[in-house]
Amino acid sequence: MYTPTETIYDIYTNGAKISTDTRLITPGCIFFALKGDKFDGNQYAVQALEKGAGYAVVDDASLGENPKFLLVKDVLASLQDLARHHRKTFTFPVIGLTGSNGKTTTKELIAKVLSMKFNTYATKGNLNNHIGVPLTILSVDCEKHEIVIVEMGANHQEEIALLCSIAQPTHGLITNIGKAHLEGFGGMPGIIKGKGELYDYLSKKKGTVFVNAGNDTLMEMVSKRRAFGEIVFYCSPTSPVNPELIEESPVVIYKGNNQRSVTTHLPGHYNFDNICAALAIGKHLGVEDEDAHEAIANYQPDNNRSQVVQKGSNTVIMDAYNANPSSMAAAIKNFARMDVSRKILILGDMFELGDAAPEEHLALGKQIADEKFDIVILAGTLMQHALPALPKAYYFPDKFSLHNWVMDNPQENTHFLIKGSRGMALETILPLIPG
Ligand code: ATP
Ligand code: MG
Repeated sequence: MYTPTETIYDIYTNGAKISTDTRLITPGCIFFALKGDKFDGNQYAVQALEKGAGYAVVDDASLGENPKFLLVKDVLASLQDLARHHRKTFTFPVIGLTGSNGKTTTKELIAKVLSMKFNTYATKGNLNNHIGVPLTILSVDCEKHEIVIVEMGANHQEEIALLCSIAQPTHGLITNIGKAHLEGFGGMPGIIKGKGELYDYLSKKKGTVFVNAGNDTLMEMVSKRRAFGEIVFYCSPTSPVNPELIEESPVVIYKGNNQRSVTTHLPGHYNFDNICAALAIGKHLGVEDEDAHEAIANYQPDNNRSQVVQKGSNTVIMDAYNANPSSMAAAIKNFARMDVSRKILILGDMFELGDAAPEEHLALGKQIADEKFDIVILAGTLMQHALPALPKAYYFPDKFSLHNWVMDNPQENTHFLIKGSRGMALETILPLIPG
């Protein structure tokens, strides 16, 4: 009585698009009635059909008979199976990418570099989870594309293993291992194990891994798994691409193999690592050096992810897309190293830390106290834990009072770093800074 994946796949290969959102229904599409914390897609199946969907994949048998319902045991598992089915149809390289920080930035950089030679498909935006990865794979056109880059996010164990079973990467990269999603992973050993699932998969499948030789944790993880098809090191003097960092602030400038300097739009040493990863992958897959450098130079970050924005005499490093202890530490270190006259730090809460939240915010406060900033502003209820280390900081429990401070204290000739978790949405401050 359940609809086999093959039947759904036949409908899909006949040209039906996939939709998981009734607001984005296209004529004849297959609507997957997924469940969320607060909704059950089954409740929207009829509406999806009324809006023009050709079929609705549902898992609630009590919805009754409808020739356009495709009843399955579990809608999410069905979507993932459909993607596995589709994955069998292409044999070109699939690069799987995970890590605690910098996945989207690195994915975009790799995509820009590989696009100089291949028809490249990469994860759109941040569609990196158990729904986004199948949707990414299902968007690959095996007639047209020549290479795929899949961002894989995780906040608990076994998630990367599941995503690997769907995307079946032939190549892989872990950007770094840091304190992100500490709560779900259960501490650093949990993060190492969880992210290591990508290496586990690739060593079982004799795949290729790209490894930052300057990262001790990743080097140790690689050394414990010996069966990779190939290991390509980057950020190492013996690496085929070994760019030299010239400047890291406000943006990275480096020298490529040809000794010509390349000016990027990305701030910070951590982005130099991301650039090195993209260059190493490009080199390995045959992209010309000049083309790779041109692609890196042209990449402009968006979505408040490491963007450098000029507002009149003020320069703002907008890093409000997300935050966790390791990306905060990297961004603050970079900001502290910037050789400019006046600096203001505006930081918001870091979420998803569970019981570690007080100590991690305090540790952040201590890191800031060791550096020199003109003004430190902290916002959000968790940031109060940083205050004992920063008695001179301005503290605002909510964003409303922070907004007022920024409006009441217009600055000039100042560099700002603005960073906080997504839920803090600190990008709302940018329009308030005089330009
Ligand atoms: P998400 O988990 O939301 O998907 P992500 O891993 O895709 O995040 P990005 O969106 O690329 O990461 O970058 C988010 C922020 O992480 C950046 O704005 C920057 O502050 C920080 N970051 C980027 N690369 C690194 C890196 N290599 N090491 C440490 N921090 C980094
Ligand atoms: Mg991302």
